[in-house]
Amino acid sequence: MYDYDLFTIGGGSGGVRASRVAAQLGAKVAIAEERYLGGTCVNVGCIPKKLFVYASEFSEAFADAAGYGWTVGERRFDWTKLIEHKNREIARLNGVYEKVLVDNGVRIMRAHATLADAHTVIVGNERYSARYILLATGGWPSMPQIAGRELGITSNEAFSLPRFPAHAIVVGGGYIGVEFAGIFHGLGAKVTLVHRGDMILRGFDDDLRTSLAAEMSKRGIDLRLNREVERLERLPQRVCATFDDGTSAEADLVMFATGRTPNTRELGLDRAGVKLDKEGAVVVDEYSCSSVPHIYAVGDCTNRMQLTPVAIAEGQAVAQTLFEATPKKPDYENVATAIFSQPNAATVGLTESEARAAFSEVDVYKSSFRPLIATLSGRDEQVFMKLVVDRPTDRVLGCHMVGAHAGEILQGLAIALKCRATKSQFDATMAIHPSSAEEFVTMRNKS
Ligand SMILES: Cc1cc2nc3c(=O)[nH]c(=O)nc-3n(C[C@H](O)[C@H](O)[C@H](O)COP(=O)(O)OP(=O)(O)OC[C@H]3O[C@@H](n4cnc5c(N)ncnc54)[C@H](O)[C@@H]3O)c2cc1C
Repeated sequence: MYDYDLFTIGGGSGGVRASRVAAQLGAKVAIAEERYLGGTCVNVGCIPKKLFVYASEFSEAFADAAGYGWTVGERRFDWTKLIEHKNREIARLNGVYEKVLVDNGVRIMRAHATLADAHTVIVGNERYSARYILLATGGWPSMPQIAGRELGITSNEAFSLPRFPAHAIVVGGGYIGVEFAGIFHGLGAKVTLVHRGDMILRGFDDDLRTSLAAEMSKRGIDLRLNREVERLERLPQRVCATFDDGTSAEADLVMFATGRTPNTRELGLDRAGVKLDKEGAVVVDEYSCSSVPHIYAVGDCTNRMQLTPVAIAEGQAVAQTLFEATPKKPDYENVATAIFSQPNAATVGLTESEARAAFSEVDVYKSSFRPLIATLSGRDEQVFMKLVVDRPTDRVLGCHMVGAHAGEILQGLAIALKCRATKSQFDATMAIHPSSAEEFVTMRNKS
């Protein structure tokens, strides 16, 4: 009766997973992707960002090596080479995504898709009917409506800048802004990070936020809080940013990391009767079903948790709900996440203030110490760790860390929290010595 059992719009993290699994479960599937297979994560998000983070971390390693007896010769960084190598890797990943879909019998259409009605998708001059439609169109960076904003860039352009800036102003203290401040700084730029709030990383644990801000400042990032950019002006060689306190700064590059908007315009959703919230995100239930029963939506276009593993889990669950007997929904409890800043920060579970709001008796354990590596390198650095515990049950509600490899360390602790581990079980765990991570099982004093 229909051309396809499932028609997915958007070939990013969520759309590819849902399409591949649906096809493996026997559905006839098509996917439309207008820009790049793999979506934001592979092309202008997690992956190229992490490659840039790796590149930027070498400068600290070179500096620290001297304390360990190394003489490091002349150092030179070639931005063009990094971009070239990154592009090669991304092209390889685009191919991997294509192969996964093709091998499972998914038809790929490389074009913009819109809805004609609740069961019909238009791609170019063709119309296709579908039993189910999945919206997986992701998000797009948004910029503040200020004069001269066209002189700035977003994270999208940061991945293919023709020239590396000597001075970069990064606007926005969310995780993308914080990470890019670290990338530019580590690669040798002077960096000013401008944030309108009184502390970076809104939504994260307050101690994590202040600890990371202190470490970033120590490294030389100029953090300007409670400050907004009012306008940008072109100078002969640079851009001048004027702030709301009347001060200004000149830079080679201004990057806005000021939020992302769901990609739901020009999709014909009104023709199908799909409801959007006031931010333009598709309104969905816990099974990712929209206001139209056979139209589903996953990932960033639904504005839930904007993370790749979450979009993938939502896509997987939709495919299983539609083409397996039992409805599936993703589990959003204790989703661990990392900020790939310098140093890293990572978190799982409740912040201290969330825990205090939800539980009546909360214990907090904190530790701040100089990591062993910094003893010989001479670097002025503090690792910060924190556990939030529900006193009556002894259950660990939240773990937070600022320090090297926090992203790697917190993934393991996320499993512990998923298993509802207690503080006594943390304490009963033998330490790996000497490591920074061992502090998570040796913290005994409540703060
Ligand atoms: C700089 C940056 C760093 C990030 N770092 C991390 C990280 O470290 N860890 C993490 O977990 N998450 C990270 N994220 C978030 C992560 O990338 C997203 O949450 C994830 O990609 C969302 O997947 P998605 O499937 O919803 O959408 P996307 O991956 O954005 O895919 C949507 C796709 O739909 C296509 N599309 C849109 N409209 C149409 C249309 N009408 N027709 C055809 N195709 C269309 C787009 O071209 C796009 O390819 C980062 C994001 C950014 C921007």
